[in-house]
Amino acid sequence: MEVIKAACRRGSSAAESIAIRADQKSYTYKQLVSSAFNISRLLSSCNIKINDGGITGHGNLGGARIGIVAKPSAEFVAGMLGTWFSGGVAVPLALSYPEAELLHVMNDSDISVVLGTEDYRETMQSVAAKTAAQFSLIPPVPSFSPSTNMTDQSEIGEIEADGSLISENPALVVYTSGTTGKPKGVVHTHKSINAQVEFMQKFSVRGIWQRWRESYPINGTKADDAITVFTGVPTMYTRLIQGYQAMDAEQQAASASAARQLRLMMCGSSALPQPVMQEWETITGHRLLERYGMTEFVMAISNPLRGARKAGTVGKPFPGVQVKIAEDNSGDDILGVGELCVKSPSLFKEYWKLPQVTKESFTDDGFFKTGDAGRVDEDGYYIILGRTSADIMKVGGYKLSALEIESVLLEHPDIVECCVLGLPDKDYGEAVSAIVVLDSERKRKREELNSALSLEELCSWAKDKLAPYKVPQHYYLSRISLIPNYEMNLNITS
Ligand code: ATP
Ligand code: MG
Repeated sequence: MEVIKAACRRGSSAAESIAIRADQKSYTYKQLVSSAFNISRLLSSCNIKINDGGITGHGNLGGARIGIVAKPSAEFVAGMLGTWFSGGVAVPLALSYPEAELLHVMNDSDISVVLGTEDYRETMQSVAAKTAAQFSLIPPVPSFSPSTNMTDQSEIGEIEADGSLISENPALVVYTSGTTGKPKGVVHTHKSINAQVEFMQKFSVRGIWQRWRESYPINGTKADDAITVFTGVPTMYTRLIQGYQAMDAEQQAASASAARQLRLMMCGSSALPQPVMQEWETITGHRLLERYGMTEFVMAISNPLRGARKAGTVGKPFPGVQVKIAEDNSGDDILGVGELCVKSPSLFKEYWKLPQVTKESFTDDGFFKTGDAGRVDEDGYYIILGRTSADIMKVGGYKLSALEIESVLLEHPDIVECCVLGLPDKDYGEAVSAIVVLDSERKRKREELNSALSLEELCSWAKDKLAPYKVPQHYYLSRISLIPNYEMNLNITS
């Protein structure tokens, strides 16, 4: 934020320096900030109802929630800054959400305006029409080109909401993954946010290897905009290894040599399988730095940059972070295993409109209860053992709630009972699998009409209702009830 403020000062050289590189284009602070001011003016003209949902705010918008739907890009950043300049609270909307989840997030956070780029205009206009929100377009941010920018005399104005941008005022509502129930809106303040500056539009194995090779050409000099740090979830590393194995020898040599020259590679979000860690080290020479984070505090525990990175652990607390283990007193547990509780300067403010959940999530002495079980090893490194609550599947980088998927499947008129579980999967760790019991009456009627429920029909129904990573990969049909103590008669159908 200091850089942004400097960039806004008249005649400041910071204004002309590069703020963002995205999709092979560069954007100066001046370009970014003047686009943000335009957006801020646009929002001020939107006739937004102020202070309607309990967030007390500042500036013209007084804490009103502004949805942002854009690929990772300069437009996304301009949308966030524009929202903040006028005192709004940004709610990034995940593009992969099916409409039902999108509507839940938009209604839950009382979004007044959805800012979106041209590519989402049509979809978002129709979604917004189903809520109280209006759609507003984020115009393209002009990118940097030396010839045009030399003569750029435009002024960018002053940031009005000055002090508010580094304050305890809410800045962002981010939704959790919805593993243990419905996604919760996590309110972060300006103070608790750290900005990120480099984007790729989507995860692409080929794209990433190529970007590394361009960063560090085998017989050339390091590129000006070389990637120096990379972070990903375990499944991304599995995919990158597969991509590497599919290359010819020459390309493998160029790729491995490039990857070796990055400064740091990190991993988090779910447990990193040790074979993946080993393979990655063999190929790239990088020992992955595994760390532990949550939407609620972003990052709190990490293996060290310098020092031993211990496989199977997430390292030690960051400076300024306190972690304690609330031991389970039930008796039989392995010594020292309990719920991880965290106190950190990056801790969120509250769960959006969930005062009771917020209250229950903190100990009396102000530690946040993570819901994860863990222990500390003899060297003070933390080991994550899973959720304190059961029913959790870990699929790729996602942690999914069996309960949530079951409740969706039960909406199908033909399904009377179901049980969702994660079955071992070499690619994703676990694969979402569902055992379903069909309604006998409807089954009989369908058979009479010669239109028995097909696997295709069930699959496409589930695809419409669930985010892609939550859709069951395997279905098992049970002829009898799943209620415990009944012998199961499984008929494998996929
Ligand atoms: P919800 O809170 O809605 O149920 P969620 O907890 O899955 O969803 P996130 O904040 O995206 O939402 O995920 C945080 C969780 O990810 C942590 O609580 C922990 O279980 C898991 N996690 C993060 N890093 C690691 C890691 N390095 N190893 C194992 N698990 C991890
Ligand atoms: Mg959580």
